[in-house]
Amino acid sequence: MRLTIGYLYPSIMSQYGDRGNIICLLQRCRWREIDAQVKALEMGDKVDPSEIDLFFMGGGADSHQRLIAQDLVEVKGEAIRKAVEEGAAALLICGGYQLFGHFYRTFRGDDLPGLGILDVHTIHWAAEEGSIIKDITTAGKGRMVGNLIVEWQGKTLIGFENHGGRTYLGPKVSPLGKVLLGRGNNGRDGWEGAVYKNVIGTYLHGPVLPKNPHLADYLIAAALSRRYGQVELTPLDDRLEWEAHVHALQRARQAKGEAIAKTSPTGPKAWAHSLADRFAASLKALRPS
Ligand code: GLN
Repeated sequence: MRLTIGYLYPSIMSQYGDRGNIICLLQRCRWREIDAQVKALEMGDKVDPSEIDLFFMGGGADSHQRLIAQDLVEVKGEAIRKAVEEGAAALLICGGYQLFGHFYRTFRGDDLPGLGILDVHTIHWAAEEGSIIKDITTAGKGRMVGNLIVEWQGKTLIGFENHGGRTYLGPKVSPLGKVLLGRGNNGRDGWEGAVYKNVIGTYLHGPVLPKNPHLADYLIAAALSRRYGQVELTPLDDRLEWEAHVHALQRARQAKGEAIAKTSPTGPKAWAHSLADRFAASLKALRPS
């Protein structure tokens, strides 16, 4: 079997170590003798919709998004839409997620056009609240930064988030999962990410796949299904990856418990305990290794 990954703007949209996701996908394919290739799709490059099985785009600052938005819509948009409708998979992180939606309103209040493949739109918190960002302190005020844990298909996804945009979902997408810790789409409705067909947009930043092997395999299977129908992936010995997952979960929980203990002298224990219970339940749901 073969699989082609289309890496959208690798030299611009890879701010948080996003390339780690490509390395992870390639390695998990190699271990299974799936012939996986990466095709870089930079500015000006056209997309052949029948070639790409799995699109990937990482995160970037507003200024990076400003550089690529028009190229994404005008040079690549139609072909990506066609591939997605035919079943191509995609993983889009933060800035990439935002530009697969209808539009992203930057902190300055102007709109960058998006592909509209995901029925979502995103507004930077400062534009939404009419605040002017003068310096790093005001920039950080409404920013959503920290560990992010999401309940997805009865298991957990772990990562970190760092975004100013608040994303709102329309009726043609479903949320990826429920926020267990962190802010997710907008810090208000308790949901994280968006899914349409085999496309996943998420605020789980950077190299999210190495420590979430179930998400990596979900994407590989979804991408292969376009050419080969339903595929049963050979199980891998990924105990190390699951250990990393559990370790990251525990560190996030600990950090949250410590923060609560510092800021809430009246009832930190109850808080920390209920959090611990929820994590214990989600850890139980993990795949046995
Ligand atoms: N500019 C966007 C925001 O801050 C994207 C950030 C990112 O990709 N991490 O919301």
